[in-house]
Amino acid sequence: MLTDEKPVDEYVAERNEFKKLTCPVCTGKTLIFSEVVYNVPVAGKLLIVSIYCEKCGYKSNSVIPFEIRKKSKEIVFKVEGTRDMYVKILRSPYASILIPELGVEINPGPAAEWYITNVEGLLCRIEEILRKAEILYSSRRNVSEVIKELKMIRNGETKLTLIIKDPSGLSQILRSELGKK
Ligand SMILES: [Zn+2]
Repeated sequence: MLTDEKPVDEYVAERNEFKKLTCPVCTGKTLIFSEVVYNVPVAGKLLIVSIYCEKCGYKSNSVIPFEIRKKSKEIVFKVEGTRDMYVKILRSPYASILIPELGVEINPGPAAEWYITNVEGLLCRIEEILRKAEILYSSRRNVSEVIKELKMIRNGETKLTLIIKDPSGLSQILRSELGKK
């Protein structure tokens, strides 16, 4: 699981929540439906509709951008210390993530979703994907070596470059979060 898969509250413009709905998976009256309008700098207004079941954990998210920008962009972010772990990232379902130092490349799958996470959460997610060997992995080094290096980065013992390639241009680093927890 991501360690910090939470909405960025300061960008919330509107939030509606409906509880005790019937879950389509476990049929419990434990489903929470929420719609949140985010007003994100650069990306513009986004509506995130999510459902979550408190009983079985079933969840689904979909994001509807109000203002679609189709200008492709590439974000390059140097992760240089533990304070960078808290920098938040908004990743669109169209974005690929590359870490050249590790030879890691994650391409968006057909079921890719939007998510807001921080650098640490993203590194944990990469580790999780690596363990499941779902990654397009172009390095000659073995997976356990790369996982070891990911841990070193999280501990601030080494540096890496995070590249987010997004043909939709909607992904972004939320820099106002720099240094905050
Ligand atoms: Zn359920």
